Amino acid sequence: MLNIDLHCHSSISDGLLTPAQLVERAAQRGVEILALTDHDDIAGLAEAREAAEAKSITFINGVEISVSWRGRTLHIVGLDIDPDYAPLAEGLAVVRAGRAQRARNIAAELEKIGIQGSLEGAYTYVGVRSLIGRTHFARFLAAQGYAKDVKSVFKKYLVKGKPGYTPHEWASLDDALSWICGSGGHAVIAHPGRYDLGKNVLSDLLDEFCALGGSALEVVTSSHTPEQMQHFARHANNRNLLASCGSDFHGPGESHFDLGQLPEFPLGCTPVWQQWESTVNAELID
Ligand code: AMP
Ligand code: MN
Ligand code: MN
Ligand code: MN
Repeated sequence: MLNIDLHCHSSISDGLLTPAQLVERAAQRGVEILALTDHDDIAGLAEAREAAEAKSITFINGVEISVSWRGRTLHIVGLDIDPDYAPLAEGLAVVRAGRAQRARNIAAELEKIGIQGSLEGAYTYVGVRSLIGRTHFARFLAAQGYAKDVKSVFKKYLVKGKPGYTPHEWASLDDALSWICGSGGHAVIAHPGRYDLGKNVLSDLLDEFCALGGSALEVVTSSHTPEQMQHFARHANNRNLLASCGSDFHGPGESHFDLGQLPEFPLGCTPVWQQWESTVNAELID
């Protein structure tokens, strides 16, 4: 079995390691095919690719796009994208531009419950300023003692229904798919088990995703229970969608799964990398 990890984050977005450090860790952990999928940015791909080549890791250009769909936030991973495709690069720049105002809104909400200085505090945790996000707020609030760790801060302050949550309009599903597919990449619904979609809403989402040219469901991810992996494997198979896998690693001590530490696919899944003859060395697949 190849060791494949197609979802992780560097300090370009909300990961703790630089792209080169991330690849170094992946190499130490025996990863053979790696995709870097920073939120709404592709600025880390060149550094990661160079580091991966030095370690003989097959590197896949990736991104995780924030999408608003029917009032919810979804994450769509793009794999094997072309970072030079202008509509993708320009579209992501627009998505990033919304993050600064959202950060001000989050800080204003937190101020209402007596938490001062969170905007400046969160910015001390960012790698690239335009990628400011909830994780940076969470790291600041955890360091200030508002909860025992990042996960607890999210639960207490930053998820829907909590005082520091603010609604935000991200990219449309349509746009995200057109940027990914237009660049020659494959679109993957990231961690579908995280959205708490009822049966009918999930069915609508899959209808739309397939009609827009989507390729795969992320079946194996650290956010899924074994039952959810089975569940989404069945949906992928029923829809003729491929299956993807990724740790969603953000950093040592913060992530549930480390790089390359993934359970195998449930039986019957067709892996997304079977499509990449052009990218992945045929010998690696055989
Ligand atoms: P943002 O794009 O700024 O809304 O931040 C989304 C990121 O926050 C996700 O990619 C995760 O890294 C992190 N996140 C979301 N929910 C949680 C949670 N419940 N616990 C820990 N981290 C979370
Ligand atoms: Mn993240
Ligand atoms: Mn995500
Ligand atoms: Mn992610």
